[in-house]
Amino acid sequence: MAQQEGDSGNINIAIDGPAGAGKSTVARKVADKLGYVYVDTGAMYRAVTLSAQRLAVAADDHHALSALVKSLKIDLLPGEQGQSVYVNGEDVTSGIRSREVTSQVSYFAASGIVREVLSKMQRKLADRKGVVMDGRDIGTHVLPKAELKIFLTASASERALRRFKELPANDSVSLEQLEQEIRERDRLDEQREISPLIKASDAKVLDSSHMTIDEVVEAIVKLSRTKLAEAK
Ligand code: C5P
Repeated sequence: MAQQEGDSGNINIAIDGPAGAGKSTVARKVADKLGYVYVDTGAMYRAVTLSAQRLAVAADDHHALSALVKSLKIDLLPGEQGQSVYVNGEDVTSGIRSREVTSQVSYFAASGIVREVLSKMQRKLADRKGVVMDGRDIGTHVLPKAELKIFLTASASERALRRFKELPANDSVSLEQLEQEIRERDRLDEQREISPLIKASDAKVLDSSHMTIDEVVEAIVKLSRTKLAEAK
């Protein structure tokens, strides 16, 4: 596993947890505060899913999926509203957030070859440390030596409610439907064979059900300062 000791004095921070727990918002803010690089690994799985859907490649077609994922150059660049995602030079930032991608991404994320290729890319991004990476298997699999591991969670009803409030006014999906979709995605992510969503034994659990985003960010920044001091 190519996790090198950085000489920058920085640490790596892994933030895992179920869908809608606030990981990406929190991870981005923590990265901003520390001057670190934010890596949204969910966006990478979404980028593979969108590309496969466009080419009608099925999630269980190992051969075609293997060729596809190896042909993709995925770039995550700081954008105006968070992170912009490019696939082979095309901006897919909004395309990867569609309901179609969201409802299928967990099937593509269960593919061994997809996980292998993306995990390798993710480790490379974290090689020099100073990275805040969010996902499902960062603390357990991608960066098992990350100095700080957070498992960020919240009740399914609270996570659905947060997603519901973010929807555009013309979206007709109901709160019940959203909660059901979130529970189904949790189930698929927790039960897959390869690198399932699970808390790393050394991760600190934060339940954000009754915390504001800023409170969660503060808690993580405080923990990271302690780890940084220890790392020196
Ligand atoms: O974080 P986000 O909800 O955008 O992730 C989309 C999906 O990508 C997850 O539901 C999961 O199936 C997959 N994923 C994963 N491993 C990661 C990040 C995301 O399997 N490290």
